[in-house]
Amino acid sequence: MTRIVALDTSDVRFPTSLTLDGSDAMNPDPDYSAAYVRLRTDAPDGLEGHGFVFTIGRGNDVQVAAIRALAPHLVGRDAEELLADLGGVWRELVHDSQLRWLGPEKGVMHMAVGAVVNALWDLKAKRAERPLWKLLAAMSPEELVDLVDFRYLTDALTREEALEILRAAEPGRAEREAALLARGYPAYTTTPGWLGYDDAKLARLCREAVADGFGQIKLKVGADLGEDIRRMAIAREVCGPDIRIAVDANQRWEVDEAIGWVKELERFDLAWIEEPTSPDDVLGHAAIARGVAPVPVATGEHAANRIMFKQFLQAGALQVLQLDATRVAGVNENLAILLLAAKFGVPVCPHAGGVGLCEVVQHLAMFDFVAVSGTTENRMIEFVDHLHEHFVTPVEVTGGRYRAPKAPGAGAQLLEESIVEYTHG
Ligand SMILES: [Mg+2]
Repeated sequence: MTRIVALDTSDVRFPTSLTLDGSDAMNPDPDYSAAYVRLRTDAPDGLEGHGFVFTIGRGNDVQVAAIRALAPHLVGRDAEELLADLGGVWRELVHDSQLRWLGPEKGVMHMAVGAVVNALWDLKAKRAERPLWKLLAAMSPEELVDLVDFRYLTDALTREEALEILRAAEPGRAEREAALLARGYPAYTTTPGWLGYDDAKLARLCREAVADGFGQIKLKVGADLGEDIRRMAIAREVCGPDIRIAVDANQRWEVDEAIGWVKELERFDLAWIEEPTSPDDVLGHAAIARGVAPVPVATGEHAANRIMFKQFLQAGALQVLQLDATRVAGVNENLAILLLAAKFGVPVCPHAGGVGLCEVVQHLAMFDFVAVSGTTENRMIEFVDHLHEHFVTPVEVTGGRYRAPKAPGAGAQLLEESIVEYTHG
């Protein structure tokens, strides 16, 4: 028998605020950070499961403490038993009757569950000697729906409907896997668009993005309309008419303000408007979507759980769904969100960047292509070229596409020396 013998945590912070990488209208000085967890086992091969929550600096210690609060659920348990029923483990962690009070199912405690769940998936994929996307894509529809907690979803998606979606995608799994391995998965880049960059840097990075093969870039907006118009004009001129340009307001606006602002930027041909207002404001997003149509509204990186996504979809409040690998309670909840998106026919373009988000979320998008939605049409994963060098299996993005990872695991493992060098305090 293999046991989980320890749940170790680290407070890892990278000083990204020094270069204004990651600066946007709401977050002018982020220090990209990971509240990091390692599940250690007594297996002779020393296999471990790694996961993290992405934060932007202060408070990373609070997130680490929340992860540590879950240790009694796992330490001392039989690893094989846990990994054989990750649906059951998810329910046990999310429905801890005392910890759940801190949410429920939202915020620091819910994200802590996500880090631990993702670490368990990392361990499971490493033991199976498969990358996570491939492990998930080889599971049967029944095994996959057993991972999902349908509580609070059944007015929009039932277990039976989820099974139908997954069964409909079963034929063609092998062909799509071969296509993924041959051609990769589409990416877009946010590297040029941070608000703190000057015009010369913006133009140079736009030029490089096009030369690197990206079909879409994204610019941060929302601090100053005149500045946004000027920066959009530079980006559009450098990129030309054939590159898609999305804009991201990072929750900056009131509802009416968002509609007016987007109308001013519409002339530059917008791929989407992202996070126009509070991520909790379902009806506000629906009003904005009606007001700025046909410009699509994109959101999701701060959507607290599957129930929020359900309401956004029911209300027609988002046209591009941006799930995030570490905002909700891990792989299981993101599977529920992928199924909801498939049910409503909305494309998923995952949020990434930060530290490690690209490495982890690519597995979910690739699994979606092979076994859920069955398509990459209008779908792409965000890419930001920061901090990949700190990972054991960094993403590979070439020609504007993510190359399918082949290494076993979920992609979350930081290099030991990076953990040591950047541990806070
Ligand atoms: Mg964003």
